[in-house]
Amino acid sequence: MRIAIIGAGATGLTAGWKLSSKGHSVTVYEKNDRLGGLTAAIPVGDDMLEMYYHHIFTNDTVIIDVIKELGLENDLKWYEPSNVIYLNNTIYPFTTPMDLLMFRPLSFISRIRMGLMVLQARFVKDYLAIEDITAREWIIRRGGEECYNLVWEPLLNSKFDIDSDKISATWIWNKFKLRGSSRGKNISKELLGYMDGSFIRIYNRMAEIIKAGSGEIRLNDAVNEIYKSNDTFKIKSRSGTDEYDSVIFTASPEKLSYVVKGMGKHYLDSLRKIKYKANICMILELAESLMPNYWMTVADREIPFVLVIEHTNLVKNHKYGSHIVYLSRYLDPANELYTKDDESIRELFVSWLKKIFPAFREEWIKKYHINRTRDAQPVVRTGYSRLIPGTETPMKGLYLASMSQIYPEDRGQNYAIRSGLEISEHFPSLRD
Ligand SMILES: Cc1cc2nc3c(=O)[nH]c(=O)nc-3n(C[C@H](O)[C@H](O)[C@H](O)COP(=O)(O)OP(=O)(O)OC[C@H]3O[C@@H](n4cnc5c(N)ncnc54)[C@H](O)[C@@H]3O)c2cc1C
Repeated sequence: MRIAIIGAGATGLTAGWKLSSKGHSVTVYEKNDRLGGLTAAIPVGDDMLEMYYHHIFTNDTVIIDVIKELGLENDLKWYEPSNVIYLNNTIYPFTTPMDLLMFRPLSFISRIRMGLMVLQARFVKDYLAIEDITAREWIIRRGGEECYNLVWEPLLNSKFDIDSDKISATWIWNKFKLRGSSRGKNISKELLGYMDGSFIRIYNRMAEIIKAGSGEIRLNDAVNEIYKSNDTFKIKSRSGTDEYDSVIFTASPEKLSYVVKGMGKHYLDSLRKIKYKANICMILELAESLMPNYWMTVADREIPFVLVIEHTNLVKNHKYGSHIVYLSRYLDPANELYTKDDESIRELFVSWLKKIFPAFREEWIKKYHINRTRDAQPVVRTGYSRLIPGTETPMKGLYLASMSQIYPEDRGQNYAIRSGLEISEHFPSLRD
């Protein structure tokens, strides 16, 4: 079959890799000038670095198996992170259960309640039973008002901006569960995985296999229209119009609603109900180290970023020639900060960095990069399971596999790869 895949991110490339291996003729369309989607990487020093920070957890078994299948397992390394939280102008350790017990901004009783809330999350099996409750209500009920106001309210706000009060308890439940499960038997020791040379190596390898199987990857080739005529799909893109037997769309449901023609209004409206938050991510290549930790959560609503990540404090095997720091901010795409020019964002972020780290000097910045993406995080609001569109669309042969459909899991490479594998199961193997 001639199959068009829209999007050369983790989902699209995994589907393309598997379908090529099954003997299908695959064409992957990508609107950007590089492959990888949210896992795309840029050259830094003598190495490659993700435009948005990435690590994996020990229970991300799908991606770990794929890394093995692609023969890259020797390059996947596991590191122990050190996490802190910035609150009330102070940096507190925030990695182990003991750190939580010693967390002075909260009263002792609130610390115990917060610890129990995180531990108990592992035992919630029926996530549908909590999906109509907001994260706010769920946290206050279990962890108390003090713990919500001090720690979780600024975090939910920094991730979901104007929609933070609508977020489902399922989303926060899943976060607690996930973080706890990368600890293994020794709960005080968390392990995070990273690939030598960045995760893009996985996707480059998939792309090589697609091309070797006479498939094609078309970069800089945004798809503007998908329609069906006489059982054949027509794809209109920047480079022209081509025909296919089947189409897999891996960008957001809302994007699909704007390019597909010939679908009913009811279906198109349902695709537009799922919203995404955008992300601005600044990478700093520094001459000096900023902090001793890997991950700093910033729980302060005044500060324009929510995370400070010193990537080189986790990843030891690299050739960047610099200390790498990411500053991340999620926001509504309508927020005026999203469209500010790079220099204004750099100035704003750096001015706040100086307040958190008084020893930091602007002269340490060798280079900076501002990356932004419109579709960074689906807004997992209450009742989310009732909003998710199916993989099979009303147009036979057109499939939708986006990161908004992996619920109750939250976005991550593991689940994008899983979606790519699952979608390829809809097609027979021509090799048998
Ligand atoms: C800030 C940030 C941090 C993250 N951290 C982690 C982490 O630590 N660990 C982890 O595992 N995951 C992390 N993720 C999530 C992970 O990157 C995603 O879950 C995964 O990459 C999603 O892959 P995808 O293929 O489903 O979507 P995408 O990567 O979004 O791919 C969709 C592709 O479609 C393309 N496209 C859109 N419209 C069109 C069109 N009309 N024509 C052609 N192409 C089009 C887009 O350009 C894009 O390349 C993070 C994400 C972000 C934003």
